[in-house]
Amino acid sequence: MTFKKLFDRIDSVRFENVTKRYGEQFAVKNLSLEIQGGELLILIGRSGSGKTTAMRTINRLIEPDSGAVFINGTDVREFDPVRLRRNIGYVIQNIGLLPHLRISENIGLLLRLEGWKEEEIRKRVKELLNLVSLPYESFVDRYPHELSGGQQQRVGLARSMAMDPPLFLMDEPFGALDPLLRAQLQDEFSRIKKELGRTIVFVTHDINEAFRLGDRIAVMNNAELVQVGTPEELIFSPASDLVAEIVDSNRKYRHIDALKVRDMMQPIAREYTLDPGLSAETALDLMVRKGLEVALVVGKSEVSGRVFLNDVLKARAGGKGLKEATRSLPLFSPDTPLLEALARLKSERESMGLVLEDNEPAGVLFSDRVLQNLI
Ligand code: ADP
Ligand code: MG
Repeated sequence: MTFKKLFDRIDSVRFENVTKRYGEQFAVKNLSLEIQGGELLILIGRSGSGKTTAMRTINRLIEPDSGAVFINGTDVREFDPVRLRRNIGYVIQNIGLLPHLRISENIGLLLRLEGWKEEEIRKRVKELLNLVSLPYESFVDRYPHELSGGQQQRVGLARSMAMDPPLFLMDEPFGALDPLLRAQLQDEFSRIKKELGRTIVFVTHDINEAFRLGDRIAVMNNAELVQVGTPEELIFSPASDLVAEIVDSNRKYRHIDALKVRDMMQPIAREYTLDPGLSAETALDLMVRKGLEVALVVGKSEVSGRVFLNDVLKARAGGKGLKEATRSLPLFSPDTPLLEALARLKSERESMGLVLEDNEPAGVLFSDRVLQNLI
């Protein structure tokens, strides 16, 4: 049986005067906003500003009191809510994998409900695990509690992609992860986004995440939309003091021209580092013990870089050392102009670089942390 799609592609998702109240209080007030097909729109604002409520009116988890949401010009109330939700990927912070089901069963659940054949399901699960960088053989038969937080989040992402929906709703999907892993998943997510070219509505309260991922950013405050625009529009023409404060346009970009990597690099956190001389076996043991999916390998410049758990697993199977599993990172000197370093990170689609001084690792530069530190 093949899955009957509600939409082949998304041309637009449009909020028209959407209002939702709880008692006397507005959760969303008179929201009008159009999201274009293929764009990643960020909803940002303080906790309680109405982001989640607004997002959930799209897949009808919440029905507005007044106003309407249209997908490709059709009022979502015209769609059967179950069909609608199966056609929209939904990813939340605690992704709610079913604990008694294996990873393959969690990802394949909807496909099974849709009547796919076992063989087709297996093929699709394999593709999806590959897309989120989890090796099929190592993960397919595991249970959710056997995975790290980051791995579970990837499974959640894979599950949301099972039916290949043209539209995704993501509510603070990386909110609970530590900074290194968060940056890693953001990078992978940008790559997947580029490959799949889907339309995405993404909630965050982290302005750096918004800058990194968003095509446009919609700022909400007290249930209302305050401004929507590209990151540059918000930075250079904030509509209100609140927006200016959120993007911190006054202070953040004032001196950036004069800054060097030295001013913004951070010390290398010991808990994330491994010595390049380790065997894959020992490295694996350390990573598992520390719960790391990704670590920094720190030695001389030619052997420094980043290593992923999967690569260490492969290296161990092939009887290799940690060095062979290490992938290089963009390298900077402390004197590299900051803007040049940021431009390189952006063009190489990396979120971090290693800073070397006299051929020795001296620090790391995170692109999103740079923005944060400029405040
Ligand atoms: P955000 O996602 O921006 O943190 P929400 O959309 O979750 O905000 O909530 C917006 C407002 O609506 C908040 O003041 C919240 O307390 C209120 N709210 C949300 N859901 C409910 C509910 N089920 N019952 C009562 N109030 C709610
Ligand atoms: Mg929320």
